[in-house]
This record gives sequence, C-alpha cells and structure tokens, in this order.
Amino acid sequence: MSSEMLEEVADIGVQAKGLKNIHFTNWSQTYSCQPSLYFIPKDIEELREIIFYAKSTNKKLRVVGCGHSPSDICCTDDYMINLRLFNNVLSINCDTNTVKVEAGITLTELNSYLDTHKLALPVLGSVSDITIGGVISTGTHGTGAKFGVLAEYVLDLELINTSGDTIKCSRNENSDVFLSALCGLGAIGIIVRLTIQCEPAFLLYEYTYPSTLDEILPDLDDEVNGCDHFRMLWFPHTNLVSVCNNNRIYNKEITKYSQSQKVVNWFCNYAIGYYTLEFAYWLSTYCQPLVPYINRLWFWLQYSRPKERIDLSNKVFNFECLFKQHVNEWSIPREKTAKVLLDLKHWIDTTPNIYVHFPVEIRFVKEDDIYLSPAFGRDSTFINIIMYRPYGKDVSHTQYWDSYEKLMKEAGGRPHWAKAHREKASDFVKMYPYFRAWTQVRKRLDPINLLINSYLNRVLMDS
Ligand SMILES: Cc1cc2nc3c(=O)[nH]c(=O)nc-3n(C[C@H](O)[C@H](O)[C@H](O)COP(=O)(O)OP(=O)(O)OC[C@H]3O[C@@H](n4cnc5c(N)ncnc54)[C@H](O)[C@@H]3O)c2cc1C
Repeated sequence: MSSEMLEEVADIGVQAKGLKNIHFTNWSQTYSCQPSLYFIPKDIEELREIIFYAKSTNKKLRVVGCGHSPSDICCTDDYMINLRLFNNVLSINCDTNTVKVEAGITLTELNSYLDTHKLALPVLGSVSDITIGGVISTGTHGTGAKFGVLAEYVLDLELINTSGDTIKCSRNENSDVFLSALCGLGAIGIIVRLTIQCEPAFLLYEYTYPSTLDEILPDLDDEVNGCDHFRMLWFPHTNLVSVCNNNRIYNKEITKYSQSQKVVNWFCNYAIGYYTLEFAYWLSTYCQPLVPYINRLWFWLQYSRPKERIDLSNKVFNFECLFKQHVNEWSIPREKTAKVLLDLKHWIDTTPNIYVHFPVEIRFVKEDDIYLSPAFGRDSTFINIIMYRPYGKDVSHTQYWDSYEKLMKEAGGRPHWAKAHREKASDFVKMYPYFRAWTQVRKRLDPINLLINSYLNRVLMDS
C-alpha cells in the first residue's frame, strides 16, 4: 500500500482511523476488492474500537495478513484489518524452545529473530513473507512424514471475539476454541498473540536428484520415511521427477559458493528458471503444443543433475515461487498417492488438447487433530498443481482443475483452505468429522456473523 493511496481517512473514534480508497489484491493478482475502510490498528484497544464501530455501522470485518492466499478468503467490501503493527516478539524461553509473538509478525521477521537466539521453526512452507496469523488460519504446511501443518506447533493463543472479549485457549483451556481457531479461516476471532514450539536452530543438508515416477512410486513410503523432509516435483507430459531429500545435519559448514558459482546459480535460477521460462510459457499461449517440450527442456536444463547443499533451515525450506500463477492444492490420504498421480498422468497423457505447466508438487504431512486441518486424522499427501500466468496473461485451466478435483475427491481429498476451491458446507461435513463442531464454536464466538465474507458464506452455505 503506497502513501498516495492514503487519500482519505475516516476518523471513527479516539484512536482508530480507517483508510479509504485502498484496493486490495492478493499476491497472485487473481482476486481483489475495495474495502470501504482499511484499518491498521496499533494495539488491542484500537482493535476493539474497530470491532464496535463495525457493529454500529452494520459492516463486516475481515483480517488480512500478507494477502498471499491464492483465493478470495481475505476479500471484503466492508472493513479490512491489517495487523502488520502486531509484529512484536513478546517473550522467548530458550530452555523450553518456545517463543510468544503477536499474530501479525511475518515468518521472515520471526526466522531472523529466532536465528539470533539459536532457535528455529521445525518446518516451513515455500515462503516466509506471510504472517503467523495467516499461516495458522489456513492450515499452511511444509513437508515431512514426522511434521504437521505449522499450526501444530502453536501451544496457546489469544483471540478477540466479536464482543471484544479476549479469549485465551490451548489444549488444556478452551480446547474446542483452540482446535477451531488453529485452522479458523479468520472466522473464529481475531488472533492477537500465540506461543510457538520451536527447536534448536539447525542446518539442512539438501540432496536433489532426477528420477521417474516409475522408479519412485513403488517405494514411496520408504523414501518419505527415510528423511526428515521429502518432496518431489513431477513434470507433467513426462515421467520425470525431481526428488528432494532434506535432513538435519550437525557439525558441518554452510555450503560456500565461489563468485563464479554464484553467477552460474543466478543464471540457472533466474535467467533460465525465471525470465526465459516466463517467456517460453508466454509463447506457448499462442502455440499450446509447445508446453510438453518446455516441461521436458526445463527438466533437462535445471533438474537433470544431482545437486547438494547445506544451509540454514529456513533458507532450504523456502524457495522462489516464480511468477504469478493459478494454483490448486488438495490433501489426500497418503496411501492413495501413487494411484492418484498415475491416474492424473493417464488423464493428461490421453486427453486431447490438454497442456499443463510444471511442476506438480508433492509433499507429505503428519496427521493431526485440528478440526479443519486438511491433515486431520490421517497422514496426508498434498498435491499442488499449477498454471502460470506469464506476464499476467490468463491461461485456461478449468478442464485441468475439474479433472484434478474429481480425482482428489474420489481419493477422499480435502482442498487447501487458502487456495481457490469450490466446495461448500455439504462437502465439508463429509470431509471433516468435526466440521459441525467448528461451525458451533464459530457461531458461539461470532453470533452476529461479523467475520463472514463471501468465501466463508460458501464454506458455511448450507450448514
Ligand atoms: C508464493 C506462495 C507460496 C506459498 N507456499 C505455501 C506452502 O508452501 N504451503 C502452504 O500450505 N501454503 C502456501 N501458500 C499459501 C499461504 O501459506 C497461505 O495463503 C497463508 O495463509 C498466507 O499467509 P498470509 O499472512 O498472506 O495470510 P492471508 O492470505 O492474508 O490470510 C489468510 C487467512 O488468514 C486469516 N488471518 C490472517 N491473520 C489472522 C489473524 N491474526 N487472526 C485471524 N485470522 C487471520 C485471514 O482472515 C484469511 O482468512 C503459498 C502462497 C503463495 C502466494
């Protein structure tokens, strides 16, 4: 949000001011909205004032983190609250490896704070320029057979409900609120503080090597269980995969690159892996049969040789997510992984005029008991499909999405909450044993539906 956007300010009380004419767009520029007022409260008193003001003016409220969710989950035409000033670390305990933070802190800020205290988050997703509040509210995950969604590492939290009351919760106190708020979609209350279980800082040894679906799928369980953090990228229209094993490593040095190696890395990652790829996919929008050749060529250019490196955990977990994209991601029971991937491959290979971008990313998450976590009650595999939008140009993806979702549903899948999906309450009741319990907690804490937007209306529609 730039300063020239702060055109008008509505003075609504002693402290809080709402900004007008703010245009919100999510990271992938696929959804946007124009909230009638946009608030950046500096403390809980201001937050309460905004809640009361919204109620008195009959408006809805939506909290936004960094707006990275590739769906309309944050969108509202009423009032939007940005908690970016709630970004403080409140306390740290290096004996228990725990840290108490405000919910608007970004993972980038948290990683660097933890690093100076020789601690780290146990697992991360692909990026860290997202808030801890947003991360836990959508079931954000990384990968690793023994690692849960990031919300699993929250020990307790405080939220403000729509009466303006502070509610503290944990597994021992208000546990139903806790297990609802951990994947609360911004609907259970406004999370202001939380305590997170960390671990001593660690380095990761990353080993990436080329393989094929035929080679990797028969022993997938051994592969996934055989290292701390396993993930793989499959290149559709081919049998090729890039396999990535990450393991904690001690008493070793971070990999140092010479100046010339840094230039080579930049050339591979950016010149080829970003700018040329974006151009190639843009060209393919005029000649779609190019796509399989692009996928195969980029595998050969970037992924056909084994690579290894050692670095700080957050540097290895995170990677560049390239240019704007449509994504779709569901979780399925882990034992269904091979069948679903082979079925998806068969569909892509046999359907005329279907051309899909690489990669299909496959990650693994430990089961949990968070009411709306996509990994609730089962070790899960997340399969993420992607269609880039080169230079912002839209590419057709509906047929791909439809077939992928059909396969995921047949396998008992659940959509990632942050990503654009089309499911509604009647589907979620079947997917989540505690969906009704979650809706009851929501109703209790927000009886006037203050925190509801059109995304949540769909989720709750016929519940
Ligand atoms: C490039 C990229 C890479 C990604 N990689 C991964 C990945 O590896 N794994 C994965 O699982 N996901 C991934 N995602 C999805 C991302 O992790 C989620 O969308 C996450 O929610 C984004 O955090 P945010 O701060 O931007 O939240 P937002 O998108 O701003 O908000 C998400 C939700 O959280 C709610 N919320 C935010 N703060 C609070 C609060 N304090 N109290 C209550 N509710 C709150 C909002 O109301 C909204 O419902 C990725 C997204 C992008 C764009």
